[in-house]
Amino acid sequence: MDFSLSEDHILMRDTAREFAEKRLKPIAEELDEKGVMPPELLTETGELGYFGLFAPEEHGGLDLDTLSYVLTIEELSKRCAALGIMASVHNSLVTEALKIYGTDDQKTKYLPKLATGEFIGAYSLSEPGSGTDAGSLKCRAEKKDDHYLLNGTKSWVTSAGHASVFLVFLLTDPEKGSRGISCLILDKDTAGMNLGAPEKKMGLKCSDTRELSFIDAKVPLDNLLGEENQGFKIALSLLDNGRIGVAAQSLGIAQAAFDEAISYAHEREQFGQPIVNFQAIQFKLADMATRIDAARLLTYRAAVLKDQEGRFSKEISMAKLYASQTANYVCNEAVQIHGGYGYVKEYPVERYFRDARVTEIYEGTTEAQKMVISRWLMKEHK
Ligand SMILES: Cc1cc2nc3c(=O)[nH]c(=O)nc-3n(C[C@H](O)[C@H](O)[C@H](O)COP(=O)(O)OP(=O)(O)OC[C@H]3O[C@@H](n4cnc5c(N)ncnc54)[C@H](O)[C@@H]3O)c2cc1C
Repeated sequence: MDFSLSEDHILMRDTAREFAEKRLKPIAEELDEKGVMPPELLTETGELGYFGLFAPEEHGGLDLDTLSYVLTIEELSKRCAALGIMASVHNSLVTEALKIYGTDDQKTKYLPKLATGEFIGAYSLSEPGSGTDAGSLKCRAEKKDDHYLLNGTKSWVTSAGHASVFLVFLLTDPEKGSRGISCLILDKDTAGMNLGAPEKKMGLKCSDTRELSFIDAKVPLDNLLGEENQGFKIALSLLDNGRIGVAAQSLGIAQAAFDEAISYAHEREQFGQPIVNFQAIQFKLADMATRIDAARLLTYRAAVLKDQEGRFSKEISMAKLYASQTANYVCNEAVQIHGGYGYVKEYPVERYFRDARVTEIYEGTTEAQKMVISRWLMKEHK
C-alpha cells in the first residue's frame, strides 16, 4: 500500500494551495461579511481550470481523476469553503452528469462553457417537502407536444444566482413515484422559471443558495438528460461523486481550523506561559490532528476507489460521514482553544465553525450516510 501522492497530484494540490493562499485567504472574511461571490473571482477560478476538472479534454476540460478533484476542493475550501462547494457541485454533479449521460449535442452545447466556468452549473434535486426522502419530490414536468411543461418549487439550489445551467429533477410519471423522475437541463433564461431571493444562511455566506420555482415553464423535449424516468438513478449515482467533494470540503475547513488553533495556542499566554504548554490543550490538538488524518485517509481512499470499476457508495459515505463530523469536531475545539476570541469575528475560526455545520447536512445528512453504510453492511453480512 502506497500512501504517497504522485508528482502530478502534488503539483495539483500545490497550485490550488498557492491560488487559495494568495487570492482567497486575503478576501475570505470580506466575502463572508458581504455575502457575495465576485464574478471576477469565478472567472479567475475558471481560468485556472478548476471548473473543468472532470470535463473531457476534447471539450476544453482537464479530464482529471477524482483524487485531483479532491485535492483541489480541499485547498479551495481551506481558504473559502463557499467557492469550494460551488466548484464541487459544478464539477461533480453538473459536468459529470453531462459527461456521462449527455447526448453528443448536449455535450457540445454545454461542456466547453462549463469547462471554462463561462457557464456555472447548478443541481436541483431538493424541494421544500422532499430532502432526505428525495424520491418523494413533487415538481412536475408534463409532456405536451414537443416540450415539457414544468410546475412546482425546488429548494436549496447552490450557485443559483450565478448559474447558467440547471440540472433539475422532476416527475414525468407521477404514478410511478421515484421511478417516474427525470432530469432536465434548463438554461437560466427559461421562461416561467423564477429564482427566489438568496437564503440567509449561517455559513457559506458567499455561496448563493436559492429556491427555484416554475409556473408553466416550457422546456424542449431535447433537454432531457439520460432516459425518461431514470432521473432518480442518475441523481443517486451523481451524489456519490458529490459526497466525495463535501468530504474534501470538510477536510479543508478542518485543516484551516486546526492550523489556526495550534498557532493561537503558541501565542496566547495564561498563567505566565503559552497555553500550548498545557496538556489539556495538547490533547485537544492530538485528537484534532488524528481525526483529520483519519478523515483524509478515508476521503483519498474513496477518491481512488471511485475511479475503479464498481460501486463504492459505502466507502464514499464513510468518508463523507467521518470528514464532515471531523470538520465540526475540529472547528468546535478550535473555537474552544481560542476561548472568547473564538466567538468573535476577529479570528477566522468563528467563520470555519459556521461553514462546517452544513457539511453534515447537504448531499445527504449524517443520518442519511449511516443509512447508506448500514444498508451495505446488511447486504454484506446476511
Ligand atoms: C446550504 C445548502 C445548500 C444546498 N444545496 C443543494 C443543492 O445544490 N441542490 C439540492 O438539490 N439540494 C441542496 N441542499 C439540500 C440538502 O441536500 C438537504 O437539506 C438535505 O438533503 C436534507 O434535507 P432536508 O433539509 O429536507 O432535511 P430532512 O430530510 O427533513 O431531515 C431532517 C432531519 O431528519 C433526519 N432524517 C430524515 N429521514 C430520516 C430517516 N429515515 N432516518 C433517520 N433520520 C432521518 C435527517 O437526517 C435530519 O436530521 C442544500 C442545503 C443547504 C442547507
